[in-house]
Amino acid sequence: MRNRILERLTKSVEFLKKNNLYPYIPEIEVAHRPHVTVKGKGYLLFASNSYLGLNIHPRVANSAKAAIDHFGTGAGNSRLLSGTLAIHRELERTIAWFKHTEDAIVFPSGFSTNIGVIPALATVVSLDPNKPADQKVIIFSDELNHASIIEGCRLSKVKAIKYKHCNVEDLDKKLSFYRDKDVDKIVITDGIFSLDGDVAPLDKIVPAGKRHNCLIMVDDAHGTGTLGKKGRGIVEHFGVQDEIDVMMGTFSKVLASAGGFIAGSKILIDYLRIAARSYVFTAGIPPSVAATVIEALHVIDEEPELIVKVKNNAQKIRDGFRNLGFNILNTVTPVIPMLIGDERKTIQMSYKIFKQGIIAPPVRYPAVPKGQARIRFTASSLHTDEQIDQLLDVVAKTGKELAII
Ligand code: PMP
Repeated sequence: MRNRILERLTKSVEFLKKNNLYPYIPEIEVAHRPHVTVKGKGYLLFASNSYLGLNIHPRVANSAKAAIDHFGTGAGNSRLLSGTLAIHRELERTIAWFKHTEDAIVFPSGFSTNIGVIPALATVVSLDPNKPADQKVIIFSDELNHASIIEGCRLSKVKAIKYKHCNVEDLDKKLSFYRDKDVDKIVITDGIFSLDGDVAPLDKIVPAGKRHNCLIMVDDAHGTGTLGKKGRGIVEHFGVQDEIDVMMGTFSKVLASAGGFIAGSKILIDYLRIAARSYVFTAGIPPSVAATVIEALHVIDEEPELIVKVKNNAQKIRDGFRNLGFNILNTVTPVIPMLIGDERKTIQMSYKIFKQGIIAPPVRYPAVPKGQARIRFTASSLHTDEQIDQLLDVVAKTGKELAII
């Protein structure tokens, strides 16, 4: 007898494949850089989150290699046992320096950061098992927050209320409803929204949050290294450096590797080290990753021209798309969505431009709401004007062919 779960999942995968809805995933044969190869053929990559090209920066790569020579390839244990190497703490101190906080803590990924930290904050662990902490917490979360935040809210098992995207009036209204109730409140927002490219209005969210005595958490996965003159992220962009209680980020974008972090007060970090399950029950990150990120943070600090370059390149792509008549929502960052709406048409557009040498993936439900399928383009500081012109030529021609513009 066949297992019914396996039968159901087989049907589901076969349906997607038959209808050309199963994701096409090109295997890229070299490091992410503007010009890559797939099956030996050349493509322009407009789909890397390594916005500053630090994944191929010689200083960064050399530092990773040296760390392998000194510390080996793996951490050897979880951080609370014997898996804290000197380079892990050096990384955490470097993040704290970069983000202007007292301390920082590092996780194996951005996703695991959010799913460990949000439950740890929502239900503060009690050290006395006979006396569980008496706490009623509500999380207020932007409706377009990243999937890892949504998952973190679910795992926290407390009430999570979505407020309208970037809408501080709606947030304020929802917070006000609980003004006289005995609850503690957490506000969580993405800094740059990963599939829309717009920036959370932190200059307004912070005062609203403070008025209601909320803990404020910001996921600055895409803003670290791209926002602010010195790349410190959304807090530098809005000048709210000292107002955010929980600053989250990842290593998987500008920081050119994989991992996640929280930067904040020493007491917050000391608490998360014993309370965030995705920190406690997992191995320390490989030393080469720690070295990559330490060096990448120094490069951002010392080469601010990379930030200027990615901002200019992103502006050129955004202006080009808008002038052609594409809908790119409210993006003001290197994350540039081309909203098409219909799933099949989005996949078709992405595939047709791929055939003409451009890599940019389609994004659809459930990553975005139904009917809002889009292609997600990204800008890099390494793109040349000629490469951007080539992109604009290809999307103009194909967009017209498919009657998108
Ligand atoms: N938060 C946001 C806003 C993201 O865009 C991402 C990655 N797409 C993550 C968290 C998860 O980060 P990681 O890839 O490091 O797991």
